[in-house]
Amino acid sequence: MTALVLFSGGQDSTTCLAWALARFERVETIGFDYRQRHRVELDQRSIIRSEIVKLDPQWAARLGDDHLLDLGILGEISATAMTRDIAIIADEKGLPNTFVPGRNLMFFTLAAAVAFRRGLRHLIGGMCETDYSGYPDCRDDTLKAMQVALNLGMEKNFVVETPLMWLDKGDTWRLAETLGGKALVELVIEATHSCYLGERSRKWDWGYGCGACPACQLRAGGWKKYRAEKV
Ligand code: ZN
Repeated sequence: MTALVLFSGGQDSTTCLAWALARFERVETIGFDYRQRHRVELDQRSIIRSEIVKLDPQWAARLGDDHLLDLGILGEISATAMTRDIAIIADEKGLPNTFVPGRNLMFFTLAAAVAFRRGLRHLIGGMCETDYSGYPDCRDDTLKAMQVALNLGMEKNFVVETPLMWLDKGDTWRLAETLGGKALVELVIEATHSCYLGERSRKWDWGYGCGACPACQLRAGGWKKYRAEKV
C-alpha cells in the first residue's frame, strides 16, 4: 500500500495527493523541472506539502519524501507555449501548443524508475479525459498502455492510478471537499497554481491566476459548477 504521486503543485495533482494520503500507508511525491515558462507551480509544491499534513495527523504520518527531477532536456527539445514565450494557439486539429510532446510518457517512465528504487507500487497522476485540453497523453488508453509498458519493461506490477480521469473540474473541487473538507478546498484555492501565464498577483474566488488563459478558464468554470451545485 505505497504510492508515488506525480505532484506538480496544481489543483489536480494536489487533489490526487490528498486522495493518495487518504488511501495509502506511505505516499511520496515527485515533480519535474522541465523549464516550464513559469516556475511558480514548482515553488508552490513545498508550501502545499507542508500545509496539507496539517489537515490530518494520519496524512502527516503517511507523507514521505519528495523527489524533484531536473528534466531540462524536455524544455530544450520542445517548442511549446509551456516552455517558450509564445502565444497560446491551437493547431488545425484543435491541439493547443501548450501540449508538450512526450511529457506524461517521460513523467511516468521516470516516476516508475524512482518507484522501482523506493519500493513504491502505485503511480498516481491527475490526468483527466473529461474536460481536458485535448492532450493525447492524458487519455485513459494512453495511461493504461503506459502501465503495461512499464510493467513489461521493468518486470514489476505497478498500478497507474488516475482518480480524476472521469471527473470534470467541478467534480474535482467536490472531491477535494470530500477528502479534506473546507480546509482542503481553501488550501487548493490559496496554494495551488494552474495559470499558464504564472500570474499570482490577481486573486479570484477560485484562486490566483490571469483569469483568461485556458487553464484559468477551466479552473474557474469548474469552481462555478461546484458552487452552483452546492446551493
Ligand atoms: Zn491564467
